[in-house]
Amino acid sequence: MIDLHNHTTLCNHANGNEEEFINEALKKGIKYYGFADHAPMEFDYEYRMGFEDMPLYEKRIKNLKEKYKNKIEILLGYEVDFTPFVDKRVLERKVDYLIGSVHFLDNWGFDNPEFIKEWEKRDVDDVYKEYFYLIKNLASSKMFDIVGHIDLVKVFGFKPTKNIKDIAKNAIKAIKKANMTIEINTAGLRKPVNELYPGDELLDMILNENIDITFSSDAHSPSQVGFKLNETIQKLKSKGLNEAVIFKNRQKEKIKI
Ligand SMILES: [Zn+2]
Ligand SMILES: [Zn+2]
Repeated sequence: MIDLHNHTTLCNHANGNEEEFINEALKKGIKYYGFADHAPMEFDYEYRMGFEDMPLYEKRIKNLKEKYKNKIEILLGYEVDFTPFVDKRVLERKVDYLIGSVHFLDNWGFDNPEFIKEWEKRDVDDVYKEYFYLIKNLASSKMFDIVGHIDLVKVFGFKPTKNIKDIAKNAIKAIKKANMTIEINTAGLRKPVNELYPGDELLDMILNENIDITFSSDAHSPSQVGFKLNETIQKLKSKGLNEAVIFKNRQKEKIKI
């Protein structure tokens, strides 16, 4: 089992210490376990670590990697917001991988329950178009290794009237062209939408394109580590997937599942 997207208390909206996360991963039989906490940026700073925290974060994870090296392979990454201001201090860190995510349309944190009211003022089709346009640009930027929760825009269950495959088509093409990996992220199964990221239609499109896949629970507490990963991996295997990928020093490695 692979679980590459997990947070730590440094982001100010997670709980449990890193070792509790790892113990849970061991209990669930995860072999490749990655931390990818929210990278710092000048904006939305209360929901992430500060720039000065990066060395501390990396040191903590590297120490745990060493301590648990005979039991589990611990990997180090960041989840980076794709905004017009991606900070090169983050992009330059020596880590195993970077997950690129879109959580903001301009200044609107559309997945934050605090700002859910804004959805009522918006045209849902337009929100989806804007979101997937940013995902396309994220891929074309070639800054990241993995696309985070590719259809996060559906988190509260607002769905477009247009077909999602048409809306996401150009983004998927750009991801393929950039040779990026897409995470199958189970967090959507504990959100109002109650679906995997990506949902079934996008998932089939991604598998048809032979885009590389990895897995994640997006845990913000130890109990969420490996959340519904077993059944999710089984689901992907039943669709014909037999390998997934991990990253070490920004290099992709294929793993049989
Ligand atoms: Zn978070
Ligand atoms: Zn995220």
